[in-house]
Amino acid sequence: MSMTDYSGISLENDRLHVPHKVIIPFIEGDGVGPDIWHATVRVLNAAITAAYAQQRKIHWLEIYAGEKAKHKFDSYLPEETLAACRQYKIAIKGPLTTPVGGGMRSLNVALRQTLDLYVCLRPVRWLQGTPSPVNNPAAVDMVIFRENTEDIYAGIEFEQGSADNAKFLQLMQTHFPERFNKIRFPDSSGIGIKPISQAGTERLIRAAIKYAITHKRKSVTLVHKGNIMKFTEGAFRNWAYALASNEFAEQVYTSLQWQQTKAEQGESAANQEQAAALAKGCILIKDVIADISLQQILTRPETFDVIATMNLNGDYLSDALAAQVGGIGMAPGGNINYQTGIAIFEATHGTAPKYADLDKVNPGSLILSGEMLLRHLGWTKAADILISALNTTLRNKQLTYDLARLIPDATEVKCSEFADHIIGHM
Ligand code: NAP
Repeated sequence: MSMTDYSGISLENDRLHVPHKVIIPFIEGDGVGPDIWHATVRVLNAAITAAYAQQRKIHWLEIYAGEKAKHKFDSYLPEETLAACRQYKIAIKGPLTTPVGGGMRSLNVALRQTLDLYVCLRPVRWLQGTPSPVNNPAAVDMVIFRENTEDIYAGIEFEQGSADNAKFLQLMQTHFPERFNKIRFPDSSGIGIKPISQAGTERLIRAAIKYAITHKRKSVTLVHKGNIMKFTEGAFRNWAYALASNEFAEQVYTSLQWQQTKAEQGESAANQEQAAALAKGCILIKDVIADISLQQILTRPETFDVIATMNLNGDYLSDALAAQVGGIGMAPGGNINYQTGIAIFEATHGTAPKYADLDKVNPGSLILSGEMLLRHLGWTKAADILISALNTTLRNKQLTYDLARLIPDATEVKCSEFADHIIGHM
C-alpha cells in the first residue's frame, strides 16, 4: 500500500472524520522515548491488525520536538511540528527533556498552550496484576479532567529582586494598598499570578460533563480550594455549578439542588430527590476541597468517578492517583481541544535519562496512551484487544523492572519483551 492511500483526520460538524487508512504523527521523545515508542508502535499496529486485518491501518508520520528537533532543525519545538499537529489533528508523543535556559519553562506546557489543548485527560484505573500500595486498588476507576492552559501554569511570575518585581509591587502599593499590605515580606517576595477564567472553566466543565454522559459515569466531582482562593478556585466551583444547571439541566443533579431542597423541605426530601434523579441516570455534580480530596481518594475512592479541576490541583491528583494503580510507568494521558479536534496523547512520566537506550523501562504509559488514542478514533475493537492482552501479560507476571521489583515471583522482562508478550497474547 502506498502513502497516497492514507489521509489525515478532519473535523466535520464537530465530529472527527477518521479514514480507515489514517496518518497519525508521532514524536518519539527524548531519553527513554525511543525505547518506549518502538515498543508501543508494535503493540498498536498488532492490535489494529488483530481487530481489522488489513481494513484499517495507521501510517505513523514522524514529527520532531525536544533534543532530536534541536539537533535536526536547531529548534526544540519547530513550527512544522505545530503545523502537523494542526493538520493531522491527533498525535502521540514520548517524554521530552525540558531545555535548560532555553527561554521555555517546559516543552510540554508550550505544546499544550500553543495548541490550546485545554483538557488534560487522565484516566486512572487499576489493571489486575499491577502492584499497589493500597488494599483495594480495584476501587480506583477515575477520569481526571485537568484544566491545561490557566492557573499558575500561565507562567506569570516576578522574580524576587528583579526590576519587574519592584515595578509590579510599586503598582500594587499605589493602586491596591490594602492588598499590598497583606504581603508579609514585600522586599524579598517573588510574586506569582493565578488566572482562572469563566471561559476557561466552562469549556473544561462542559467537556467533563459530556464525557460523563457519553461514558455513563455516575458523578463529576469539582476539586478546588475555594475556601481560601475565593475569586479563582471558588469562582471555578460557582461557574461550574452554574454551567451544569444551565446547559445540562435534564442530565445532571447538583449538590446545590440537594442543599436547596434540604433547606426548604428537610434532608429526607433532599435525599429522596437525589435518589430519584440518580435512578433515572442523572450525573451527580458535587464538589470537594482539594486538601480533603487527597485523603478521600485514598480512604473512599469509590465515591469519585470523573474529577474536574484546575491545573495545579490536577497535577497533584494525577500523580497521587497514578501511585495507587502501579506508578507513573503505567499512567496514560491525553491533551485535547474539543473545538479544534486537536489532541496529543502522551506518556505522562519524564525522560528518565539514566535508563535511556537500555531497553529497560516500562512502556505501559505510552501503550495505554495509544489505547486512549485508538478509543478516541473510535477504533474500540483494537483498544479492547490491546487491553485484554495487556491484562494477560500483567496476570502472567511478565513485568518490567519497576513492577517486577514489587511483585513476588515476577519474571523481569525488557521494555521490548514486554511488548512482545502483549502482542503474543492478542
Ligand atoms: P522521570 O523522567 O519521570 O523519572 C523519574 C523516575 O520515575 C525514574 O527514575 C524511574 O524511577 C521512574 N520512571 C519514569 N518513567 C518510567 C518508566 N517508563 N518505567 C518505569 N519507571 C519510570 O522524572 P525526572 O527524572 O524528574 O525528569 C527527567 C526529565 O523529564 C526532565 O527533563 C523533566 O523536565 C522531563 N519531564 C518530561 C515530562 C513529559 O515529557 N511529559 C514529564 C515529566 C518530566 P526509578 O529510578 O525508581 O526506577
